[in-house]
Amino acid sequence: MERLQKVIAQAGVASRRKAEELITQGRVSVNGEVVTELGTKVTPRKDKVEVDGVPIDREEPVYFMLYKPTGVISSVKDDKGRKVVTDFIDSEQRLFPVGRLDYDTSGLLLLTNDGEFANQLMHPKYKVGKMYIAKVKGIPTRESLRQLERGIMLEDGKTAPARVKFVSGNKSQGTSIIEITIHEGKNRQVRRMFEAIGHPVLKLKREMYGFLNLKGLNSGEARELRPHEVKQLR
Ligand code: URA
Repeated sequence: MERLQKVIAQAGVASRRKAEELITQGRVSVNGEVVTELGTKVTPRKDKVEVDGVPIDREEPVYFMLYKPTGVISSVKDDKGRKVVTDFIDSEQRLFPVGRLDYDTSGLLLLTNDGEFANQLMHPKYKVGKMYIAKVKGIPTRESLRQLERGIMLEDGKTAPARVKFVSGNKSQGTSIIEITIHEGKNRQVRRMFEAIGHPVLKLKREMYGFLNLKGLNSGEARELRPHEVKQLR
């Protein structure tokens, strides 16, 4: 038996907090009866749980990687009608992104309808490496790149150790290309880290998420993850 809000969250319908709201708003039923008690326990797959009349466990879990273009929101809908990441995937399922990439950032983004899998990957203790290629203004010194590696004090705390590789510098343009691997997901983290050493990011792309890379995908294309890839990420 599990708490109703947990079962709803695991089904990928909503976060745990949102699931609690759905329950208290009377939008959830168990075996045909509306339930508004947050402590209610149910047996997943045995008890029939519905949100707004739609059974929650009807969906097969699916896992995609998208090569997100710039100019796209990491969300499932946008009030201003801008393009969102789910517009690029042809799936009947209610997908949502695992974490987010900024509007101006391109690269590898996972999407799934498996809430438990997404929560696991986004949990701070689950330190999946995310590798970015940044084009930055100026040519950072070796010492300032070491600072990035050791950790930078940002307004919401110090960043964990990162891996940083100077790829190339262009003196006439006054720009550099740098690879950086971080294991956390603070908001706009890479941009704020480079900002802090005085070399603002001009362009940012996520090349890798854990062991996954974008090989074979063009910008705007997506593919399903293979079962062994999903297993390896867990
Ligand atoms: N860091 C950023 O600054 N932006 C992203 O989109 C991802 C990581």
